[in-house]
Amino acid sequence: MIKPRPSRRTPPGRKQPRSKLSKATPTNKAPLPTDVNLLTRAEMTSLMAQEKKRLGLDPEKLVFVGIHNLAQYWWCAEYAVLKSRENELEFFNAYLYDRIAYSHEAGLINRLPPSTKDWLSIGDLSGDQVEVILANRAKRMPSQGRRGHIGFIQVGGQRYLNPSLPEGDRRMFHQEAIATGVKVGDLQDAPLMAGHLMEDAYAEQYPRLRWNWSWKRLVVVGVPDGITEKFVYEFKSTRSIHRRGYVEPVARAQADLYGHFWKRGRKRVQIVGREDGETLTIDEPVDEARAIDTLTKFEEVDSGKPAIRPAAWKCNRCEFRDRCPVFKGSMPA
Ligand code: SF4
Repeated sequence: MIKPRPSRRTPPGRKQPRSKLSKATPTNKAPLPTDVNLLTRAEMTSLMAQEKKRLGLDPEKLVFVGIHNLAQYWWCAEYAVLKSRENELEFFNAYLYDRIAYSHEAGLINRLPPSTKDWLSIGDLSGDQVEVILANRAKRMPSQGRRGHIGFIQVGGQRYLNPSLPEGDRRMFHQEAIATGVKVGDLQDAPLMAGHLMEDAYAEQYPRLRWNWSWKRLVVVGVPDGITEKFVYEFKSTRSIHRRGYVEPVARAQADLYGHFWKRGRKRVQIVGREDGETLTIDEPVDEARAIDTLTKFEEVDSGKPAIRPAAWKCNRCEFRDRCPVFKGSMPA
């Protein structure tokens, strides 16, 4: 799979853009976390199995899951489970990285033990210690927002421009693409790129931090689009705000999960329509019951409870169509 490449090109008069993909990475250049990222996939897989055993869990079962994937339960329950299984190693990697990086940042360690097995016991930070790390992020935020810092994202021979670019910058990036044989894509055809760029262009700016929490056999990893003392913030974009019926339940559930784990009483959710430019803002108490309901229902489906089949059109464009038991079970024999 080709990874999206956010442009680090800076239009004249702009600050250097910061990659959307590195939003949760601590900025200090200490060598410790880098060592974690140098592990091979096989080494990381072995460490994940060791960590499940250390936590008293079955190494064969799904443990490390992302909140974004969990909330997809309200799009399709089977999708949430299949995507979580596919991404488990990635979330374990994030879990391990954050535990070590924040322990280093908090001054609790100054070197990594030689045996990777001993890395697993690093990082049992208290909630208060994690709040201090978050407060440090807030202090490092620029006083002005950072909207529109990504000029474009390029995937292979296709470039997607940030919709918030001033006309002059837009023309410059467009002409440069044509001159180098790169096509300029339509964001309506690329929802993933559109999500990254719309967030960069329109999302409100708050400190953010990735962290993890235990819930039954799951270790839940998540990074809200913003965290303040009072609320968690989640941003989503969709084709049209008038057709937000599918994205809104997922966005609310995601924000409720963040609010539950970060112990914030309120959530602020914004959904922006790409076609109409309208913004829906939801500002309301965190629904604790919905957060627990999402976790419980997800765990039940992962444990074997049959998922309800979603609307057929969702399956028609789903990446798991070829291996999804729910979809296969709905096909005529
Ligand atoms: S194919 Fe359909 S039921 Fe299966 S994961 Fe995708 S959307 Fe869900």
